[in-house]
Amino acid sequence: MAKHYDLIVIGGGSGGLSVAERAAGYGARCALIEAGRLGGTCVNAGCVPKKVMWYAAHLAHALDDAPGYGFRLDYFGFDWQKLKTARDGYVRDINEWYLGYLADAGVELIRGFARFVDAHTLEVGGEHLSADHIVVATGGRPRIPNLPGAEFGITSDGFFELSACPPRVAIVGSGYIAVELAGMLQTLGAEVTLLVRKDQVLRPFDATIREQLMERLREDGITVLTRTQVRAVARLASGPLSLHCDGQVSVLQVDTLLWAIGRVPNTDALDLAAAGVTLNPDGSIPTDPYQNTDVPGVYAIGDVTERFHLTPVAIAAGRRLADRLFGQQPERRLPYENIPSVVFSHPPIGVIGLTEEEARQRHGDAVKIYQTRFRPMYHTFTARPTHTVMKLVCVGPEEKIVGCHLIGEGVDEILQGFAVAIRMGATKRDFDDTVAIHPTSAEELVTMR
Ligand code: FAD
Ligand code: NDP
Repeated sequence: MAKHYDLIVIGGGSGGLSVAERAAGYGARCALIEAGRLGGTCVNAGCVPKKVMWYAAHLAHALDDAPGYGFRLDYFGFDWQKLKTARDGYVRDINEWYLGYLADAGVELIRGFARFVDAHTLEVGGEHLSADHIVVATGGRPRIPNLPGAEFGITSDGFFELSACPPRVAIVGSGYIAVELAGMLQTLGAEVTLLVRKDQVLRPFDATIREQLMERLREDGITVLTRTQVRAVARLASGPLSLHCDGQVSVLQVDTLLWAIGRVPNTDALDLAAAGVTLNPDGSIPTDPYQNTDVPGVYAIGDVTERFHLTPVAIAAGRRLADRLFGQQPERRLPYENIPSVVFSHPPIGVIGLTEEEARQRHGDAVKIYQTRFRPMYHTFTARPTHTVMKLVCVGPEEKIVGCHLIGEGVDEILQGFAVAIRMGATKRDFDDTVAIHPTSAEELVTMR
């Protein structure tokens, strides 16, 4: 007979760990099934190791800037392998920490790969387990295109396996990962070519931010080729890869090719059809605002769904689902508006709410834009021409702030507090009435005219 639980969670990543821990806190009998390493994408091949590499690149920029502040430096280069060893150790510590997290919460960890038998039953390693509620939190994996020689390329997963900085790298894509990895690789010593199939990077972002970022990428020495697509890849006898392209180049030789063209939801091997759950054409799981699938008792959270693919979103959706199912809060859910997000480019980007274009489509002439572009004091003494750009999108006579878009040093840390204010419905007047902190870049947000 199948062992029975109140809740079984499939996937021990950001979302799965959160829903299981919160549900167990309410006294639910929970099991979590994980096929790989605890922590999922964020911990093992995403946010965490990425941010370590971003810090390294940030330091490299600081070393470039230091002479402007009077430092005389003897620079002996960057030891990629040394950082990788330390980074991998840090990630292993987090994997271990999660073992304690689940044990302390009273969640049973089951190692293995789960697939559905029916809406309340799963099979893992030949054993059947059943539950009143099953949460699918299986995340996603990098997409690899279907073209000749695509297998010669790596993805973000492969980036974290690199033991040295490749001399010449081509990155295909234009989203978060393409932009972030391009910045880190270029700053840490690679010669990066970014192959963008349309005209812009980060197309869903506000145009002002996109344009500023394109400028920065090029000023940092990255070759950005727009309207360029790879058609085939071959490995040359001498070692490098030869990319055959349509667009601004026809052939490009590089040492490493990195696909950053989006991610595929991990649903193909789950046999969700056995549970009767319908999938979107791209394989993601459609859910209603309460994370319900179309089958009662089966829920989905995080990257396996079609909404924002961010760690805090998966965590918030998971915790609120547990509150609803086991915490007697029947209306608890994550509203998917005003989700703040940062792109760890150089400099970083921070955004929340509507872009100017979206606001104009929704609110027409009621939209008012406040915008500033300035060279932050820090860069007065550096050789880098980096500017900071800030934009507030306001609506109506009360000038309610419905969008905030930032690019510049420190905006990754600045945005969080402003996100609280915007979520609470702040107006331009509320910003103006807030006393500035001087001298900072953030003060520009409360002094804009
Ligand atoms: P995951 O974390 O992917 O967890 C899914 C888990 O399910 C995995 O551990 C997998 O092994 C397991 N699994 C899958 N199928 C099965 C099965 N059938 N049985 C058992 N286990 C299974 N987000 C941010 O907010 N900030 C960032 O800076 C950021 N940087 C990123 C950088 C990169 C390079 C990448 C790739 C992503 C980044 N993200 C970032 C996104 C973030 O990592 C994801 O949104 C988040 O990890 C999603 O969590 P999840 O729980 O939905 O899925
Ligand atoms: P994204 O969805 O951000 O971007 C992928 C982009 O690549 C597409 O939007 C598309 O842009 C382009 N693309 C798609 N197919 C092709 C193709 N065949 N050839 C060339 N270009 C193509 O995906 P990512 O993989 O960058 O990241 C996945 C998700 O992970 C992100 O959306 C984000 O949610 C999360 N993430 C978050 C981070 C953070 O919070 N800092 C960091 C990293 C990831 P276009 O249509 O314009 O060509």
